Amino acid sequence: MKTIFEKSNGTDGINLTDEKIDLSFLNDNLTRKEAIGLPQIGELEVMRHYKELSDRNFCIEKGFYPLGSCTMKYNPKVNEFLSALEGFGALHPLSDDEDSQGALELMYNLQEALKTVTGMDAVTLQPSAGAHGELTGMMVIKKYFEVKGDNRKKVIIPDSAHGTNPASAKMCGFDIVEIKSNEKGQVDIDALKSVLDKDVAAIMMTNPNTLGIYEENVLEISELMHTNGSLLYYDGANFNAIMGHTNPKLMGFDVVHLNLHKTMATPHGGGGPGAGPVGVVEHLKEFLPTPIIAFDGNKYYRNYDLKHSIGSVKGFYGNFGVLIRAYAYILMMGKNLKNASENAVLNANYLKEKLKGYFDLPYDEPCMHEFVLSGEKQKHESGVSTLNIAKALMDENTHPPTVYFPLIVHEAIMIEPTESETKEKMDEFVDVMIKIAKEAKENPEKIISAPHTTPIKRVDETQAARHPDLKFTE
Ligand SMILES: *Cc1c(COP(=O)(O)O)cnc(C)c1O
Repeated sequence: MKTIFEKSNGTDGINLTDEKIDLSFLNDNLTRKEAIGLPQIGELEVMRHYKELSDRNFCIEKGFYPLGSCTMKYNPKVNEFLSALEGFGALHPLSDDEDSQGALELMYNLQEALKTVTGMDAVTLQPSAGAHGELTGMMVIKKYFEVKGDNRKKVIIPDSAHGTNPASAKMCGFDIVEIKSNEKGQVDIDALKSVLDKDVAAIMMTNPNTLGIYEENVLEISELMHTNGSLLYYDGANFNAIMGHTNPKLMGFDVVHLNLHKTMATPHGGGGPGAGPVGVVEHLKEFLPTPIIAFDGNKYYRNYDLKHSIGSVKGFYGNFGVLIRAYAYILMMGKNLKNASENAVLNANYLKEKLKGYFDLPYDEPCMHEFVLSGEKQKHESGVSTLNIAKALMDENTHPPTVYFPLIVHEAIMIEPTESETKEKMDEFVDVMIKIAKEAKENPEKIISAPHTTPIKRVDETQAARHPDLKFTE
């Protein structure tokens, strides 16, 4: 496909005016001396160009999107309408509190709602993604120990954790202590005990963990940690599995982030924008970033007065547009958030049972909202790798699942259907996966050379990630 620059043919898109615009009021050094080389092309051709580009995109509106850990659920369109309301969209972030009562009220109510679902005592909406929430939470933990005069250096992280966990802890200057999972894919209590000493500031856990398995011993773990004077950090990326059934407070966690773009249905394909609010228990309240949105019984205001605040972690309030969408979703769902989690778990277990006869299932346990298959069988039998299977799915109007994560499963295929899919859609996916498993056996070349129907075939994954070339050059 040609770029819009290559399609440029000297046609004027729109004629604003035939008269020369008088720019004499502008200082001479502010006016352009020559054209900047924008493409010259008619309106109809512009429309066709961008429509064709958008048709090449994959999105949840186009097909099944079982990208494990990412919770690609359907994002109701009413959220888009609400976040675009003029009172929100046109509000200047530097407006006074008095002039932004509606927006502040929305943020205050969202903080309260997130306190309710997580069980935490205070929430900041500032962080702009899960990883950013982790960094914020670890900064809170770091400062908490500093203020106590107990400079603990270590953070324990299970080997099933998302890579952002060790990265966030490391950025705060902690040393990472990795512990192995046991044969059930859960934190190994003995491994934990063997590394627990008075230099351990915290453990970072995801529950259900990245294998989609609920950590049965979480209460024992939180007791061990607290007895040792350590804190527990909850990576809430998998919160979609437990809403309204339990919460991180009941499990004994002290600091929590949520990924609103995952759990609370805001669009997040292509890397953002997102929001990663952080909740903390009572004794960590004063460490949160400022401002916190507060209410004095009469009006809403930004409170900068937190004794041990780590400072600001983002300009203004965070990604306000995402916060509006998440709040709308929570209001719309109400108590049904609980059903959403039930259906997410039901859907995942349904797919797991349907597929486990065709692919390896390293941890054959009841799962929560996602599960992890392995492509090892296909790899050994016919040289078809998990990457090949992922590419073959693209030929079937299906977004590939998350692959090669978590790291502890070889040839991992991590599937998360979410609650928004129907049984019919999941049955279609099962058929597609079985077809690919069959083809891998009978005609492996076809899978190994997939995709066959996409505009771009195989890319060099390493080069694409390390040296993306996104410029247009003639
Ligand atoms: C998505 C995810 C993260 C990181 O969240 P972002 O919002 O992408 O920064 C961290 N941990 C787990 C388990 C995740 O799935």
